[in-house]
Amino acid sequence: MSRFALFAGPALALGLLAAVLATLAASSSCGVREAPPAPPDGSARLREAVTTEGILEHTRRFGEIAEQNGGNRAAGTPGYDASAEYVADRLREAGYDVTIQPFEFPYFEEISPPKLELAAPGRRVFDAGDDFRTLEYSGSGDVTAPVRPAGLGCETGDFASFERGSVALLRRGTCTFEQKAGNAQRAGASAVIVFDPSSGEGSFSGSLRGPGIEIPALSVGSTVGEELGRLAEAGDATVHVATSTHSENRETANVIAESESGREGETVVVGAHLDSVPEGPGINDNASGSSTVLEIAQEMSESGVEPRNRVCFAFWGAEELGLLGSKHYVEGLPEREVEEMSAYLNFDMLGSPNGGRFVYNDSGNPRGSEKIEEVFTDYFESQDLESEADDTLVGRSDHGPFAERGVPVGGLFSGAEGTKTAREAEDYGGEIGAPHDPCYHSSCDGPKNLDVRSLDEMSDAAAHAVLHFAQAR
Ligand SMILES: [Zn+2]
Repeated sequence: MSRFALFAGPALALGLLAAVLATLAASSSCGVREAPPAPPDGSARLREAVTTEGILEHTRRFGEIAEQNGGNRAAGTPGYDASAEYVADRLREAGYDVTIQPFEFPYFEEISPPKLELAAPGRRVFDAGDDFRTLEYSGSGDVTAPVRPAGLGCETGDFASFERGSVALLRRGTCTFEQKAGNAQRAGASAVIVFDPSSGEGSFSGSLRGPGIEIPALSVGSTVGEELGRLAEAGDATVHVATSTHSENRETANVIAESESGREGETVVVGAHLDSVPEGPGINDNASGSSTVLEIAQEMSESGVEPRNRVCFAFWGAEELGLLGSKHYVEGLPEREVEEMSAYLNFDMLGSPNGGRFVYNDSGNPRGSEKIEEVFTDYFESQDLESEADDTLVGRSDHGPFAERGVPVGGLFSGAEGTKTAREAEDYGGEIGAPHDPCYHSSCDGPKNLDVRSLDEMSDAAAHAVLHFAQAR
């Protein structure tokens, strides 16, 4: 019994009850307030603080930096150094303890435009950029020689009947460009051309990931590749290939910021690469990711979040040259620190104009990665947003080195050179059959090459996951 007088006889009791009910009815209809909605939890508060305007302020600045520095923010260039300085200044302003971690890497530059011409049968001059490109770290040379197809060029057997001095024509896929070019060079090729049967018209950018290949190495689109292949099969195709390149060791750096609070022994690393390819400003790839990580770091500090676990925000250098910055960082970590890492979250391309909501799938990743995938997919579900597991990025971005050392990894991605399927168009809108990012690794990857809605949805999911692992018990 509530201390209330209900036990004073049934009639009285009924009368009293009627009176109470009447009062209640009266109060609900006349303005007694509904229970207030639960106060926004930490995630909701952080997501509110992390705004697209805040992120776009950074991407715009990276766009200006590229414009002021030859159109790119590639590793070893003033554009990258200015980007790193900008990030370090913003993090220091937000109260973080910032470490600049320098490392050396082999720098590559093209001295003069390359040439690719069909010398026989007939004459045809191919267009540098559209029809073909120089592979990064290609050697220099000026050769005119017959074209000889050698399949994928991944096995020495592919060069069994290869004529020394010829130009090797190889298909993209299965092994890396440097493996293909290395095999061709060892087989005596005077130059190597790699074509991508699935790339449609235009050529593609690729890297040999370091010096060592002395001969000219080019990439061509499927049209040029298949034409040269047909002519060569017919037994009579001669090409003129000329490249002039320069490579040297240069210094670049990672920018690392650590949260003031957070228990030792449990570390969450949140990373995004800060460099662009030499071909363009790299705004979707990857100012979208690095600006999002910067905004989250700023807003966590601004809103006084005290992470339970140690949080490291990392801005990697030279990702486009082979994950060099994140590799340098991970390789330098003592075993104890690696063991203390409960999660590495990677954000590479979050604003693809024709993209989707792709969550790193855990296949092939260390145990614990499935938990990270779950946090992202559960979040999107809670927002009634479609998302899907994606394993196209295995080892292709900065989570690779962490996964190799057994750290649970995860992340988000909105799409690059892949083309949109009908099902994806149903889930995310956009154009079927068109690339997720038509400006991937190109000069048009500028400030306008961002889907702001994608950036908004993906940055909220990123903020949610960062906080989830920062506060995990
Ligand atoms: Zn990238």
